[in-house]
Amino acid sequence: MIKAEYDYLIIGGGPGGAAAGIGLRQQGKDCLIVERAALGRSKLCAGLVPQKTLRLLKKMLGDDAYAECMEAALLSQQPMFRIYDRHKCLLTGTPRDGIWTLDRPRFDRWMLQHYVQLGGELVTSNGVQSIDFQNNTVILQQGETVRYKQLIAADGANSRTAHQLDEQRGRRSHRKAINGFCLEANIPAKRLPNATGANLHFGIAPSSYAWSFRKAHTVCLGMIQLPSKHFDIQKAMLDFMTALGVESPETVEVRGAMLPYDGGRRQLCRDGILFVGDAAGLVEFPTGEGIYYALQSGCFAAEALSGDNADQRYATLCQPLCDQIHKSMRYQHTLEQRIPYSLFIGQVGKIVGPVTRFYENNIDADIV
Ligand SMILES: Cc1cc2nc3c(=O)[nH]c(=O)nc-3n(C[C@H](O)[C@H](O)[C@H](O)COP(=O)(O)OP(=O)(O)OC[C@H]3O[C@@H](n4cnc5c(N)ncnc54)[C@H](O)[C@@H]3O)c2cc1C
Repeated sequence: MIKAEYDYLIIGGGPGGAAAGIGLRQQGKDCLIVERAALGRSKLCAGLVPQKTLRLLKKMLGDDAYAECMEAALLSQQPMFRIYDRHKCLLTGTPRDGIWTLDRPRFDRWMLQHYVQLGGELVTSNGVQSIDFQNNTVILQQGETVRYKQLIAADGANSRTAHQLDEQRGRRSHRKAINGFCLEANIPAKRLPNATGANLHFGIAPSSYAWSFRKAHTVCLGMIQLPSKHFDIQKAMLDFMTALGVESPETVEVRGAMLPYDGGRRQLCRDGILFVGDAAGLVEFPTGEGIYYALQSGCFAAEALSGDNADQRYATLCQPLCDQIHKSMRYQHTLEQRIPYSLFIGQVGKIVGPVTRFYENNIDADIV
């Protein structure tokens, strides 16, 4: 039974919302997370995380809870990544700490359960239907009205909170223009027995890549369509599965989801509401890495709310994340130009050491 009023209301129970909730509960704050899906919902995500994400989790959870979380959700360590030009392998990199995969449904469920263990309140299978920003009130899908003192929007790439703010301010929402679209399929590993490592296939999805990541019992295949790039992604995905040797690819369940693609240019704070994770556009490109950013921005939101001037503090704390995303967008824009892209594909196989060090020093290095 939820109360009629909370000090802190978080919309969305993904990594961003859960991290904010855990941070607020660690400070003993009165807090409700509202998640529209069921606990342990399936979530489209390849679950690839560099070591920096695991270091962040250890810092935010402490040693014992971190060990529990890893036992619940960590799937495997992949020793290598490969870069392909379509299906021709150009490079095999073996980063010092390997690359890790998480089981997203199990990870998200563990995080929310941990938040509840810390005394946080949680509503699942019941989303926020509408928000009255003037009166600090939300109406849930099942009809309950809940008041809040502070709202945190962790409601994903297609943030309904941002939509509603735009609508109430008479602004047009451009969510489609600022999100990429991904397709993903998870194939039982026995259907692709030779699949190993984390593989990025360039030359299949324009200015982006298709992936094949070996997990414990499955191989996760997917690709990203950038907002401005029109191609038949369904067909490209079928062709990709066929080329990798998936039998009867048309029988495989393929699902789609949005991924923010605006280089961290969304506002982190609007009308006193803090946006975290995908809702704040915090995803790095060309990798599409967002779990780290969701967790870190969630922690920062909780930290900022522990004192005065939360908006400003939150923006300052998140600045290094935004800087890193802006930097990553420069690499992305290079890949979007024909000549630099050809140079990259032509040369990448000759610079295995620098590419591996780039992974270790950029993608795997702590940002804050
Ligand atoms: C196909 C794909 C593959 C990816 N692979 C990787 C990867 O390998 N590594 C990586 O780091 N990142 C990856 N990402 C990105 C990563 O999944 C996201 O960046 C991350 O999930 C962001 O977390 P979040 O908490 O901000 O949002 P989400 O995880 O999207 O959580 C938002 C939550 O809000 C809930 N919600 C939405 N609206 C409402 C509402 N009105 N009321 C209540 N609840 C609501 C949703 O149900 C959802 O649970 C991938 C993304 C996609 C689409």
